[in-house]
Amino acid sequence: MRDISDFISSRALAVDASGIRKVFDLAAKLKDPINFSIGLPDFDVPEIAKQAAIEAIESGQNRYTVTQGIAPLREKLRAGLSSEIGRDVGDVLITSGVSGGLLLAILSLINPGDEGIFLDPYFVMYRHLMTLAGGKSVAVDSYPDFRFYKDRVERAITSRTKFLLLNSPNNPSGAVMSEQEIRDAVELAKKHDLLLISDEIYEPFLYDVDRAAGGLYSPASLYERTLILRGFSKSHAMTGWRLGYAAGPAELINQMTKLQQYTFVCAPSAFQVAAVKGMDVDMQPARDAYRRKRDIVFGLLSKRFEVVKPGGAFYIFPKAPSGMSPTDFCTRAIEKNVLIIPGTVFSERDTHFRISYATTDEKLVQGCEILNSLV
Ligand code: PMP
Repeated sequence: MRDISDFISSRALAVDASGIRKVFDLAAKLKDPINFSIGLPDFDVPEIAKQAAIEAIESGQNRYTVTQGIAPLREKLRAGLSSEIGRDVGDVLITSGVSGGLLLAILSLINPGDEGIFLDPYFVMYRHLMTLAGGKSVAVDSYPDFRFYKDRVERAITSRTKFLLLNSPNNPSGAVMSEQEIRDAVELAKKHDLLLISDEIYEPFLYDVDRAAGGLYSPASLYERTLILRGFSKSHAMTGWRLGYAAGPAELINQMTKLQQYTFVCAPSAFQVAAVKGMDVDMQPARDAYRRKRDIVFGLLSKRFEVVKPGGAFYIFPKAPSGMSPTDFCTRAIEKNVLIIPGTVFSERDTHFRISYATTDEKLVQGCEILNSLV
């Protein structure tokens, strides 16, 4: 009889998630750790959205929705995004989280051997989804300051490149692309005839950019061949509701919708209804709270670590102390009950570590002091 492992596809085996799993295994052994490892907000879903979800369930909105998502939500998102970017954004598809949008986009675009470029360090799912699709991830080094180096990116473009995948604010560095960097990315995409995928899941958490003043944020404002991916997981603390959306060229959205029909089918129905109300909640207080946390964590860690001040999201990515392997440093931190993730999980380099500062101010200060004491 064959071993079960003999049945597993090479596709599944090609996805190596061992780095992060080790951290979670260690974490499971800790009692009440200072948990700097998880990427989700420490506030709860806004009350108005919770109530709307409860009402939607009780009023029987529990069936499949149309694959593309309910019209009131799609229309509201399309209107909002279009006014933001200064033109019609194109079609909108409601997805099962931004993860769902990423998977459908990559499956719709990548033939075996095709390439997609993103900056290193990167959100680890990008690499795994490219592997599933049979594509090649091309990770362009953005160290030491996590900037978009146009010349490095241009050197990575080949005849097989389909898209540049941008992620600002970035997970894991918290870096936010400047206006010039956005213009550079668009210029490269136009010059080399590439699509842009813009993962804007952390858009609500921008600390040094005044969106109301109308500064450039999304490359979609400059380039129609941009697929915007956003969601409610981080902005509204709905990570478990699995709600995201994709907006962009109709032809691409149509293909993604077709694939959604035969995979996810639709995003959760009651939560789609609730999101229509949730969209009206002012997230300014959350943004202000996270800006303050960013300042606390940067203020403390910059005393001992080489670290770049993040402009958004809730991550900071300091360099591990010299004279110690970053993995050893993370193990020592975990032994002191502070859970951090080695940078090698997000990068070709093994030099940094990621902190998610979405936790209470008290834990933040405690945890940073412990980390500082290890240097
Ligand atoms: N993109 C980035 C950069 C992320 O950090 C995450 C979640 N950690 C996602 C996409 C996926 O989020 P979700 O599927 O919950 O919307």
